[in-house]
Amino acid sequence: MTTHTGGCQCGAIRFRAEGVLKDSSICHCRMCQKAFGAYYAPLVSVRGVEFHWTRGQPKRFQSSNHVKRGFCGDCGTPLTYEAPDGMAIAAGAFDDP
Ligand SMILES: [Zn+2]
Ligand SMILES: [Zn+2]
Repeated sequence: MTTHTGGCQCGAIRFRAEGVLKDSSICHCRMCQKAFGAYYAPLVSVRGVEFHWTRGQPKRFQSSNHVKRGFCGDCGTPLTYEAPDGMAIAAGAFDDP
């Protein structure tokens, strides 16, 4: 079993994903640009993978009808893209991105 861990910049929020992460993407949509304060958002899908928040919980912002975005309420690190068909984690939030 492959284990991937990560968290936000301040450490208030930590997560663990167990399984093979194979679906990564770069999204250039306007909402990802705003959410990440960057030209694009690097994301890794955790669909079909055992995923747990191991410390804290992200705050969530509903950025459109279908999508919520999770971030650390203390340090502001972008953490998730949550759609009805699954969740993706900000690639840079992993300990080994
Ligand atoms: Zn934080
Ligand atoms: Zn996007």
